[in-house]
Amino acid sequence: MQNKGILIVVSGFSGAGKGTLMKELMKRYEDVYALSVSATTRNPRKGEIDGREYFFKEVVEFEKMIAQNELIEYARYVENYYGTPKAYVNQQLASGKDVILEIEIQGALQVKEDYPDALLLFVTTPTADCLKERLINRGTESAEVIASRMQRAIEEAEVMESYDYLVVNDDLETCVTQMHNIIKSEHFRVFRNQAFLEKTKEDLANRGLA
Ligand code: 5GP
Repeated sequence: MQNKGILIVVSGFSGAGKGTLMKELMKRYEDVYALSVSATTRNPRKGEIDGREYFFKEVVEFEKMIAQNELIEYARYVENYYGTPKAYVNQQLASGKDVILEIEIQGALQVKEDYPDALLLFVTTPTADCLKERLINRGTESAEVIASRMQRAIEEAEVMESYDYLVVNDDLETCVTQMHNIIKSEHFRVFRNQAFLEKTKEDLANRGLA
């Protein structure tokens, strides 16, 4: 029986290591998961390739995607648009893959509303000090940017309760395994196995009469 895949949303504080986690998860389990590639109006960073990290769009192109209902969700984040194209996600879900959206909280909450069966994971560091340390150690951000990321984390922490699972990224290897186990277990939820349930009832009824 081919089950439809699960739509998985991963959000977390900037600096919590979402990107590294996603890369490692995909490396280990590439047959199981599909990582959605978002569209954005922000400029590509050094090393980023169109169609791999993001589909880089002009504002008018992005707004056309919104108007034509081509996005599952979208949000404005630091002056730019970010959104999840529908077609790829639906196609991968139908083929039985679990599809991961690595998106910020406004988009995550939109997904939760429109796709009540989606699984929402929130990635955090063990402590706030650890988060700050990681942002500093990245060495790519100014003190001002670090302060604004920490401020945003305070705001994001307010919606952590809307998520289904908290994933504490202390050790990368452990965290990837935990994340995979959470998703694996999720497949056994009764409401995700409605067809099996119906078939079991039907078989039992037939047996009873035979
Ligand atoms: P960055 O510009 O650093 O790549 O991403 C900034 C933020 O946008 C991150 O929190 C990332 O998770 C989020 N993001 C990336 N793609 C999407 C998307 O399709 N939708 C939403 N809502 N957020 C996204």
